[in-house]
Amino acid sequence: MDRKEIQVAVEKYLAQKGYGRMALKAAMFDMDGVLFDSMKNHAKCWHETMAHFGLELPEWEAYMHEGRTGAGTINLVSIRQRGYEATEEDIERIYQYKSDLFNKCPKAERMPGAYELLMKVKGSGVVPMVVTGSGQKTLLERLNRNFPDIFRPELMVTAFDVKYGKPNPEPYLMGMEKAKKELGALAPSNFIVVENAPLGVAAGVAAGVFTIAVNTGPLPDDALLSQGAHLLFHSMQEFCDEWEHVVACLR
Ligand code: CA
Repeated sequence: MDRKEIQVAVEKYLAQKGYGRMALKAAMFDMDGVLFDSMKNHAKCWHETMAHFGLELPEWEAYMHEGRTGAGTINLVSIRQRGYEATEEDIERIYQYKSDLFNKCPKAERMPGAYELLMKVKGSGVVPMVVTGSGQKTLLERLNRNFPDIFRPELMVTAFDVKYGKPNPEPYLMGMEKAKKELGALAPSNFIVVENAPLGVAAGVAAGVFTIAVNTGPLPDDALLSQGAHLLFHSMQEFCDEWEHVVACLR
């Protein structure tokens, strides 16, 4: 991607929103499929869990629901296949089974290029944040181990902070709220969102933020572009290689 393409994307976003200019201060990163190469495990576990309960969810489709709450995904499949909503007991049982399976999977690796990108982001004076629907108890410890000295806990949004989850803009609105307290009054044009999933892109766009899709999974680019992604890279490494151009256009 050349600088011109990035510039065009930024100008289009500013015109749509009626903002004068971008003044990038913080970058809100999604976690699964962006910072960690964990989506293969999630998709496999969802598929196996549903099959165990007589329900159908192909692995590729799990990528389409990525970012939804566990309850949301279970309900959607239940309504589609059985014609009724899952009971709370159902949801608890199915989600527990999926979590147990997931915990037995080998720990996901850092996404190639992610740490290098985060170092560049920080080096540019932009504050990196995490906005995730994940609620793993070891989350903070894992982030610190894999990305030392990058994230501040008070600038993180996790499953414990939000009610609706993506594609609702809530997680990113809350991210901006937290950044306001810590970094001073900030507008959407002070942020970017970095997402790998269609629903995550939809959430970033609905929050009014310039949203960069990183297509690290098996879905076609259009699954992300059709949700309104303003820019798309095919890997975190590619995004990392282009960071200087991106940040030059966003300031
Ligand atoms: Ca994700």
